[in-house]
Amino acid sequence: MDLRKFFGDTVLTTRIKDVVNWGRKYALWPMPFGTACCAIEFMGVVSAQFDISRFGAEVVRFSPRQSDLLLVMGTINYKQAPILKKIYEQMCEPKWVVAVGACASSGGFYDNYSVVQGIDEVIPVDVYVPGCPPRPEQILDAVMKIQKKIDPGAKLE
Ligand code: SF4
Repeated sequence: MDLRKFFGDTVLTTRIKDVVNWGRKYALWPMPFGTACCAIEFMGVVSAQFDISRFGAEVVRFSPRQSDLLLVMGTINYKQAPILKKIYEQMCEPKWVVAVGACASSGGFYDNYSVVQGIDEVIPVDVYVPGCPPRPEQILDAVMKIQKKIDPGAKLE
């Protein structure tokens, strides 16, 4: 029997996984791990002008246990690396990580003995944001890339 003919447009079908991912991508709970100047850009991202709430990611948490999106913004030195790793491990599953800016992504211009040359030496990274510092729009773009990763089939506008 052709169910579409029978029910017309009165019934929607989907898969549980798709519904969960649809909800998940619009309900990200970010945790900013800000150590330097890039973190200042995040203040712009959550402000009215750039308004991260348009992407459902405005509920900023400062507890890893309540977060699923870690935004690392700034220089990370080797003394901080174990703290960053512990914070990552305490986050809920599933979880995602964005390296915001040159320092978090590659150490930036701090090519010396004390600075981690990219946080992917310590934790897995899903999206790298270039720039020193990146524009707030680039951080929003990273959030959209994470949404795309969560729900690859979705159309994002
Ligand atoms: S990338 Fe540039 S702006 Fe960002 S923390 Fe490093 S030095 Fe500061």
